[in-house]
Parts: sequence; structure tokens; C-alpha cells
Amino acid sequence: MQTINRLEDLRKAVDALKIRGKTVAFVPTMGALHEGHLTLVRQAHRHADHVVASIFVNPRQFGPNEDLDAYPRRLAADAALLDAEGVAVLWAPTVDQMYPEGYATNISVSGLGDVACGAARPGHFDGVATVVCKLFNQVRPDYALFGEKDWQQLAIIRRMARDLDLTQPQVANIIGVETVREASGLAMSSRNQYLTGEERAQAAGLSAAMRRAIAAIQGGADVAQSLATLNADILSAGFTSVDYADLRDAATLEAIETFTGQSARLLVAARIGAARLIDNMGVGLK
Ligand code: AMP
Repeated sequence: MQTINRLEDLRKAVDALKIRGKTVAFVPTMGALHEGHLTLVRQAHRHADHVVASIFVNPRQFGPNEDLDAYPRRLAADAALLDAEGVAVLWAPTVDQMYPEGYATNISVSGLGDVACGAARPGHFDGVATVVCKLFNQVRPDYALFGEKDWQQLAIIRRMARDLDLTQPQVANIIGVETVREASGLAMSSRNQYLTGEERAQAAGLSAAMRRAIAAIQGGADVAQSLATLNADILSAGFTSVDYADLRDAATLEAIETFTGQSARLLVAARIGAARLIDNMGVGLK
């Protein structure tokens, strides 16, 4: 695997991979890799001849009082993991390369980016959309893979790619990958490292509470009542606050007040210890 941190070198390396019509699948990350990320890489191999991954802790997607400085960084260990998974190129740009002096452009996906995590973290999804657009332009992959763990992010990236015509010829396909969980049900996240042993055990209560809420909603219970019960259940599991616990249309992210079997997603963000955790699950009648 080549680890590259200059754009000119990246362009040459990707051109070399694409020789004779070979395809490239791209897995963008912020590092501190876990099985969730590695699952994206394994899926990427199924779609394309070569896999390019990136590690970039994007300052523009962190708010002023968020965990940018504390966010775990361990490039050497991450590079070894990606190498073992057969990644051809690791793109690891510096902040100065990504946002040189005078950088002024921002991408904002309105509507989808304003609710849920967008409301709780102003500017977050502008930062995500901006960096992902830049990464697509830098790598020019045929496919890009993102985790359903970040459902709202995936919806926003799909919309941006469509709106800005990024889907052809740069990124032919944006592929969502199901959330990878610990045996306890806790969704894997780089931020789980902020949890103590006790908090980690308590955090598993989040997915259990979400499954109960989904069973109730699918069984015909009132949506608002089920979400209020979910809120209380998350707090009694040991979380200190709930940013939101919403039932939304899976594609448009519009709030659902009455569930009639439409394609829906239960989306939650809640705080425990030093971590703000997010999770989401599908709700359907099947
Ligand atoms: P991050 O490094 O947190 O920005 O995540 C990089 C990519 O990995 C994003 O597309 C995430 O949605 C995805 N990802 C993170 N955690 C998981 C997980 N538990 N299961 C599946 N994908 C994940």
C-alpha cells in the first residue's frame, strides 16, 4: 500500500490504478479504524478492482466546543490495518493541503442538513459535504462507500452527488453499508473510545431501547408516545441527555408523525460520559 500526502502524487497513483479500464472504490474515513471501517473496505473490494481509502480528521465538521483535539489519531496503526485489507492507496492529506490559505468555498445541502444532527451540530454537514466533494474531486473514484451508521450523512452525500452531478463520471455509485455492531448491540464508533468500561456496558442499552421502540411502532403504537418512552429508556440506561430521538422518512428525513408502513428510520443521538453517540435503525412492516 502507498501512503500519499501530496495531491500530485495521489493523482499519479490513481491514474496508475485505473490503467486499462480498472475501477477504483473509495472509502473515506477520519481514522481510528475499527471493524465498521474495515467492513467498508471489504465491501469496496467486491465492487471494484482497487480500493483507495482516506484518513482525514476534517476540522470543518467539528463545532467550536466539540472534540476535534481529542479525536483519536493513530495513522501508523490505521495504515497497517488498511494494508492488511489489501488497500492500494491511503490518501492522508494535511489540513493545510485540504484548506490552503484563502480557502473560501462551502457546500451546504439545505433541508436534509438542517434536521437531527444538523440542528444539534450547526455547520457540521456543511463541513462533511465540503470535504467529501473535495475528496471525490481528488480521488475521482468509480464507487464510494459510506456506513449507514451515519444515515443522515449518507442521505446528504447522495443528494449532493446528484445535485452537483458528481455521480457521473466521477463517482458512478454511492454505496451504503449496514452498521457494524459489537456483540452487545452497540454500534461501532471511533468515539466509543471515550467511554469507560461501565459506560460502554450502559451504552449498549441504546440499541436495545431502539429495538423496543421499533417493535412498538411496528405494532401500531402511537409514534409520539413511543418516542417519549424511548427517550426515557435511553436516560434510564445511563445516558445523561438525548439530543434527539426521531422517526423520519428514510430518504427525505421528514418527520413521521403517523407510521403507516412507509420506509422510515429511527434516528437517535444521546450523550454518555465524554461521548455523544448516534445510532439509527430501519422501521418497516416486514
Ligand atoms: P468516520 O471515520 O467515523 O468518519 O467513518 C468513516 C466511514 O465509516 C463513514 O462512512 C461511516 O459511516 C462508516 N462507519 C463508521 N462506523 C461504522 C459502523 N459501525 N458500521 C458501518 N460503517 C461505519
